[in-house]
Amino acid sequence: MKYTSTRGQVSPIGFTEAVLMGLANDGGLLVPERIPQLSEATLASWRNLTYPELATEVFALFTGEDIPREDLKQLVTDSYATFRHEEVTPIRRLDDGRYVLELFHGPTFAFKDVALQFLGNLYSYISQRTGSIIHILGATSGDTGASAIEGVRGKAGIRICILHPHERVSKVQELQMTTVDDKNVLNLAVQGTFDDCQRIIKELFADVSFKQAYHLRAINSINIARVLAQTVYYFYAYFQLRKQGVDGPISFSVPTGNFGDIFAGFLAKRMGLPIGQLLLATNENNILARFVNEGVYEPGTFRETYSPSMDIQVASNFERYLYYLHNEDGEQAAALMEQFKREGSMKIAGELLEQVQHDFAAYSVGNEECLDTISAYHEQFSYLLDPHTACGAAAADKLAKDGEAAVVLSTAHPAKFNEAIDRRGLTQTFPEPIQALFDKPQKQQIIGNSNEEVKQQLLTFFQ
Ligand SMILES: *Cc1c(COP(=O)(O)O)cnc(C)c1O
Repeated sequence: MKYTSTRGQVSPIGFTEAVLMGLANDGGLLVPERIPQLSEATLASWRNLTYPELATEVFALFTGEDIPREDLKQLVTDSYATFRHEEVTPIRRLDDGRYVLELFHGPTFAFKDVALQFLGNLYSYISQRTGSIIHILGATSGDTGASAIEGVRGKAGIRICILHPHERVSKVQELQMTTVDDKNVLNLAVQGTFDDCQRIIKELFADVSFKQAYHLRAINSINIARVLAQTVYYFYAYFQLRKQGVDGPISFSVPTGNFGDIFAGFLAKRMGLPIGQLLLATNENNILARFVNEGVYEPGTFRETYSPSMDIQVASNFERYLYYLHNEDGEQAAALMEQFKREGSMKIAGELLEQVQHDFAAYSVGNEECLDTISAYHEQFSYLLDPHTACGAAAADKLAKDGEAAVVLSTAHPAKFNEAIDRRGLTQTFPEPIQALFDKPQKQQIIGNSNEEVKQQLLTFFQ
């Protein structure tokens, strides 16, 4: 299995190199040269696998010769042993039409752990095997940072620097990142928004000589390993529901920010998993919902919401979808991204837009509607949704068809976002590992919103 860029200017590379490259050297995103196609017989043979077994099968399709099967199995086993639930991503039935896929049983109580526990171990493995220096640089709206830090803290040969928007992440997220005292961790709190953090990172990575001189590696959802890890639970959930006797169409509703999670669903479907609709849920920062419904991809004004991990204006994985929408034509994807950079927007229409609306149905959830959904699900099903998952549930309520089982991806535990839950007068008991954070000292550097200030910090930390 080889990887190429969505902009067509990177000659095919293997899995390890693709993971290390992160953002493609031509400014695009790495994609598999060909999407593996699964036969019905293969799918049937996977039906009864445990989560780690299934993950090993899926990853093996993508890692190719690069990682021996036994090593891969060990990596996967280690990565999911840190989860608190034996099924890793268990599914909860609320009623015949509504299911919740709980992706938050990892160390930081958000779905990012599913990919980042694996990526952390993978980096450690690559570093040991190849002697590569791993300096991880990432931006976070809260969950990625905590999860990435948890994935690599204390690991030999790895250092990690995470940028987060100062005072724009939830209290628990901030504590999860900044109470880690391992020496290989640096937290930078940037006075700006998440989009500012993401732009700084993107620009530093785009400076290929800087990236190479400092051995910078990515953990953001542009990293192909993350997308792959996230395809696994679509398979797993699908098999679980079929085994429970659900025989109609199975759709997935995905709380979406950077388009990584839902893109993984798109990939699983392209591989041959016979799932129904992919429902794309956004909050009031709804560039993706507007794209699907109107064909215009253009940032709006930033809105504060209760679901900060979805507060993005420009979705970093979106280019991967554009590439497939244009039948894997790198030139067209590059031209559109160029246009977007120049004019600040791009439009598609006609058959292409029809294709988009065939691939996704989208709904943008208002702030009050998000809280209403939390209250309604609590009332109706005695189930407490976090505000991100609530966006997914609201989209499922709006878009799921009759007779369709809609699986809402639950991307975070409600304790991570108690600020929102509290507004509806709902109380919850924090899980012990979260409660314990409030007593630990914090460590972070507050810095201005500029590439130079970040560079200065990196020069010392990564020297
Ligand atoms: C990251 C995150 C999302 C958005 O996922 P994307 O892959 O960026 O679309 C949604 N909910 C939570 C809780 C998250 O941490």
